[in-house]
Amino acid sequence: MNNEIVDITIIGGGPTGLFSSFYAGMREMSVKIIDSLPQLGGQLIELYPDKYIYDVGGFPKILAKDFVANLVTQAHYAKPEIVLGETALSVTRDGDHFILQTDKGVHLTRTILLTAGIGAFQPRKIGLKEEVDYEGTTLHYGIKDLSIFKDQNVVVCGGGDSAVDWSLMLEDIAANVTLVHRRERFTAHETSVNQLMESKVNVKTSRAIKAIEGEAGAISGVVLADKEGVEERLAVDHLIVNYGNISSLGPLKEWGLEMDRNSILVNTRMETNIEGIYAAGDITNYDGKVKLIAVGLGEAPIAVNHAKSHIDPKARVQPLHSTSVFS
Ligand code: FAD
Repeated sequence: MNNEIVDITIIGGGPTGLFSSFYAGMREMSVKIIDSLPQLGGQLIELYPDKYIYDVGGFPKILAKDFVANLVTQAHYAKPEIVLGETALSVTRDGDHFILQTDKGVHLTRTILLTAGIGAFQPRKIGLKEEVDYEGTTLHYGIKDLSIFKDQNVVVCGGGDSAVDWSLMLEDIAANVTLVHRRERFTAHETSVNQLMESKVNVKTSRAIKAIEGEAGAISGVVLADKEGVEERLAVDHLIVNYGNISSLGPLKEWGLEMDRNSILVNTRMETNIEGIYAAGDITNYDGKVKLIAVGLGEAPIAVNHAKSHIDPKARVQPLHSTSVFS
């Protein structure tokens, strides 16, 4: 971990955080972006990558994932240090900088910009106590590398688009794939469900996972139970849980920030009540606030310009136009 003190640490790599990174680069600030997810893009990538957005200026219609790809390209202008899969937990002040504690380590920063949206996303779990014994080895809440499932016995659980799509993608890779869903009907797209029913995937509906068996991080089987309590055991090498995500501001609520339910109160400079800590995007609230991508993109430069003049009082708040900076 690089522990130089950066000018601004952006917590949240959604659209607001990404645009803030670009803008901080334009103000010649050193930048770090931290996100609890394994990828950048916030809600757009996690919740609706393939939906069209129609209400961001300059794009009559753009796929959420394409919009994020543009923002990521733009964010890289600042040469930010990007820290993924890490959740910001607590903060303390140490002279002219903050010590930010995450679940994986410590980061030093002169200012903090909270662009944490609706909070850190965490996968929704099955709820079995033995789940933790297999997480990260043979129990997965998402798929990064399909090759680990080659010739394996795989159980996927869930009834939405991800569960059905992953089952179909694994059909020709795994030795066999079983899709287990708690309900009778799937919520995935009808065309995907039709494809599923014609595939080699073994579909088991109205059944829940009652127990996971195995040892030393290696799953050997799962026990399913139907509504009448009739049990069935499946031999399994890998279990993929696709129950969606839950989001929570969690630890940020303990920072001593002035809040209005799940939003952080900011003034017209996007300053929070803690000097040196700014907020922008969906996480903020003030009189007249509207939670939209376009609004977060507007709040980002306000926050960054004020953060710049906070660490360098000689720097103007009003920036040069990008047309002048880049010409
Ligand atoms: P987010 O996108 O929520 O990003 C916040 C990031 O912060 C997340 O990646 C999260 O993992 C991270 N984070 C949170 N807490 C921590 C922590 N403690 N440590 C580390 N990382 C953390 N808006 C529109 O303007 N137009 C639309 O058409 C539109 N359609 C939508 C459709 C759907 C289905 C949904 C759910 C939302 C839609 N929105 C739309 C809303 C839009 O997605 C949000 O306004 C936007 O994502 C807010 O961006 P953000 O960067 O402020 O926060």
